[in-house]
Amino acid sequence: MKIKKIPRYGDTLKEKLYLPAIFSGMKVTLSHFITNLKDTDNLRVVWYPEEKPKDITKRYRGVHRLTHRYDGSIRCVACFMCATACPAECIFIEAKERDDGIDEKEPKRFEIDLLECVFCGECVEACPCDAIRMDTGIFSFIGKKREDFILTKDKLLANKELKEG
Ligand code: SF4
Ligand code: SF4
Repeated sequence: MKIKKIPRYGDTLKEKLYLPAIFSGMKVTLSHFITNLKDTDNLRVVWYPEEKPKDITKRYRGVHRLTHRYDGSIRCVACFMCATACPAECIFIEAKERDDGIDEKEPKRFEIDLLECVFCGECVEACPCDAIRMDTGIFSFIGKKREDFILTKDKLLANKELKEG
């Protein structure tokens, strides 16, 4: 195997010690710290979680939702396109026969595992029915056990579109 040798940086004792470089970096950090400490009103921070960010746009890829038709029925026709496109394989769908005459199938079970999801948006792109969207603006989700991070069909249908403004 061809091994490429990278020469070590620094010939002098000062360079080999690294300490001067560390102190010069710390000097910059400390000067910013003191400047900010003297003028806390102008700090560009959000006191999260007491204060929620206000600049989340509709284009932000938040937690998913399943959409409804105008008559209130579920748009999803359980075609599995989203699950097939999902690179994380975190969408689980079980189809059932539809009896409202609108289409052939609908999901009996539709789950997304948020712990595996990479929020790539491929599921939204793949859906031919505009049945799944990531426009809720929900960026924060907490839980104490793994099941808390499974978005079920009911939760997905209950999630709402983010209203801007
Ligand atoms: S956002 Fe990406 S990873 Fe998450 S469910 Fe959709 S396709 Fe899968
Ligand atoms: S959300 Fe869209 S792509 Fe996924 S199963 Fe339903 S209709 Fe098909």
